Amino acid sequence: MDPGPGSFVYLKEIGVDYRDIDLLVLSHIHLDHTADVNTLIEACTDGGRRKDLYLFCPRSALEGEDRVVLPYLRRRLKDVGLLREGVTAECKDLKVSVIMRHTHHGAETYGLSFNDRVVYMTCGRYEERMLEEYPDNPELLIVNTTFYKKREGIDHLSVEEIKEFLKVKRPKRTVITHFSMEMHEKDPRRVAEDLSQELGLEVIPAEDGMVLDLN
Ligand SMILES: [Zn+2]
Ligand SMILES: [Zn+2]
Repeated sequence: MDPGPGSFVYLKEIGVDYRDIDLLVLSHIHLDHTADVNTLIEACTDGGRRKDLYLFCPRSALEGEDRVVLPYLRRRLKDVGLLREGVTAECKDLKVSVIMRHTHHGAETYGLSFNDRVVYMTCGRYEERMLEEYPDNPELLIVNTTFYKKREGIDHLSVEEIKEFLKVKRPKRTVITHFSMEMHEKDPRRVAEDLSQELGLEVIPAEDGMVLDLN
């Protein structure tokens, strides 16, 4: 999901065999979410020898002048699932559903759910509509909590806004990630602890290499 800068190297470091990866998913085209997508297509298809890699992404990742997937590498994919509102794409036993399109600096950006269990709230401006579209009580919510304080005119989520969202949606577990320098200065561990205490929910700060079990 969203292979940003370093994904290729980090996966190697934690011992992942690229040939075991069946699916790459992009929520939007921005560099911090896609920098290594081409490298991973090359690696996961074993230089084109393996023919069963899937990619789910917005159309803008493949077409138009801002496309991020190199055309010659796209031809190595077994299939592409184009994400847009209302779409559910399937790969083996995984079902990826588009929850809604986010407003995110003009980029075609989608919040997603995986097998109706794991919800990924990617980058975007906080909108009331999120309270209608996102599911209640997901098993796990991963949320790109970029800022601590809400910033006018910047289409990213903040702790202030996420707090309101969590109060209503009450996920069983929440992972906050995608931190700005402001968040690092506040210390994500403290932020997560404060949120947990205040809301009576389990809120976890993402860390490199973190593994979570879904029961
Ligand atoms: Zn972005
Ligand atoms: Zn981002």
